[in-house]
Amino acid sequence: MTDERKAKRDKHRFGIRTGIFFWMMAFSCVIIAALWLSQVVFLDVIYKNTMQNRMLDAAERLTLADSDNFRKEAFDLAESNQFSVSAYCIYENEGQKIPVKSSDSIELAGAVTRNITKAERDRLILFLHKEAKEYGGEVFYEYKPSAETENDSSLSRLLYATVHSDGTYDYLLLLDCSLQPVDAVVNIFAIQLAIVTALTVLLAVGLSFFLSKRLASPLLGISRAAKELPRGHYEEGDVGRYREIQELSSTLSEAAEELRRTDRYQKELIANVSHDLRTPLTTVIGYGEVMRDIEGERTPENMQVIIDEARRLSDIVSDLLTLSRYQSGPFEDKREFFDLDEELSATVERYRRMKAASGFTFLYESDGEAPVYCDRVKILQVFCNLMNNAVNYSGDAREILVTVKKQKESVTVSVKDYGIGIPEGELPRVWERYYKVDKTHSRARIGSGIGLSIVKRILDGYHAPYGVESRVGEGSRFWFSLPLLPEDTAEMLPAELSE
Ligand code: ADP
Repeated sequence: MTDERKAKRDKHRFGIRTGIFFWMMAFSCVIIAALWLSQVVFLDVIYKNTMQNRMLDAAERLTLADSDNFRKEAFDLAESNQFSVSAYCIYENEGQKIPVKSSDSIELAGAVTRNITKAERDRLILFLHKEAKEYGGEVFYEYKPSAETENDSSLSRLLYATVHSDGTYDYLLLLDCSLQPVDAVVNIFAIQLAIVTALTVLLAVGLSFFLSKRLASPLLGISRAAKELPRGHYEEGDVGRYREIQELSSTLSEAAEELRRTDRYQKELIANVSHDLRTPLTTVIGYGEVMRDIEGERTPENMQVIIDEARRLSDIVSDLLTLSRYQSGPFEDKREFFDLDEELSATVERYRRMKAASGFTFLYESDGEAPVYCDRVKILQVFCNLMNNAVNYSGDAREILVTVKKQKESVTVSVKDYGIGIPEGELPRVWERYYKVDKTHSRARIGSGIGLSIVKRILDGYHAPYGVESRVGEGSRFWFSLPLLPEDTAEMLPAELSE
């Protein structure tokens, strides 16, 4: 990413403090706005709506009640909800409608129909009847008593009328309840809410500062300390109480440790490799010069020394190349079917021929044909690295035992030597890059500390189990297992393998 784009992106970012403050404020604003809307702005609407719903429920109960139960039901409603319940039959006499009140009606003290004259009441009932019929059989009506009327009935009343017809007459059910004025309540709520708003804002500010300090301070500390990470230094400071931040800090600490270790190994590698390269080079140059200058020295033995040393150089360089190839790219896997037993016995035979002159004995014990499906080159690389180590570290014993043992679903290869062995404490570390148990550069112990890390990389790539057992002075046994192909699959192998 270019610096310009990074700077632009950073400009649009804000810190944890600002972020927490912003979200706390947004959260408080939403809560306060919801309170203001429900408790102040829409209180009147919500109150009336609630009353209307209660009236609708009550009317439904009354409509479902039969005539025997009507009075009891009306009484219950009047008592529990403070509704007056009255029923009227609308008679028609010579074109004129006359409302006649049912004796089952229960009219509480404030009921409209009790506080007006009979003529006014009849007018009101007929008006409600007309309106209800016009609007689908029911109507809500807010009745405001005239200013002169001075008593309990001065409150607004909510009336609900519903009309039913039995074919001959219309019946009107009237529910009536008082509406409490909400203005006074709204004023009280407004004052309370103003106080709550101020407190919430203060609390949000305080809380956001407190939280951001708790979160941001350790993160800032970690970020400052992590600037030293490229140099392999990381000072774990105060990381606060939060688990995630503590985990981040310990991960960085481990990364610093790993960087330090890799750096050390790399330095060791350069020292080892330059030493390991220089020794054979000096020999080659020395022998070459002697052979050039002194005719009698041009013997096959001297030529062999030059060839051996050049081969050693080539081995070191190819080890380095292999490791860098395996490390830099993804695990390339050119799998093929092959008989592990056949390949290994041929390889052991080659070692036998190569090392015969040095007095090495190679024993090979196998359970026979072991078909596997792997990258042949990589598996042979693993085997040769183990064999080379067995040869290099076998001391005076010079005996190496290779076994190929078949289990039900896998085959285990082990390479055992009776040489110098590895101290127990060093065992887990031999698989690390550039790691050498013996850091001194004796001529006999060639190697750059990468052979086993190549083995590890390859076997890990196959998720294959592997390991080492060793005792100082008694020798070492390195082993690895590969999945064995089932018999029926083995039958499908290319002809030359299944022979
Ligand atoms: P090198 O090229 O140095 O042998 P390796 O990665 O193959 O590197 O091995 C790492 C270290 O493990 C070696 O330097 C050696 O000290 C130890 N090691 C490996 N194999 C054996 C063995 N068979 N016997 C004793 N020590 C061994």
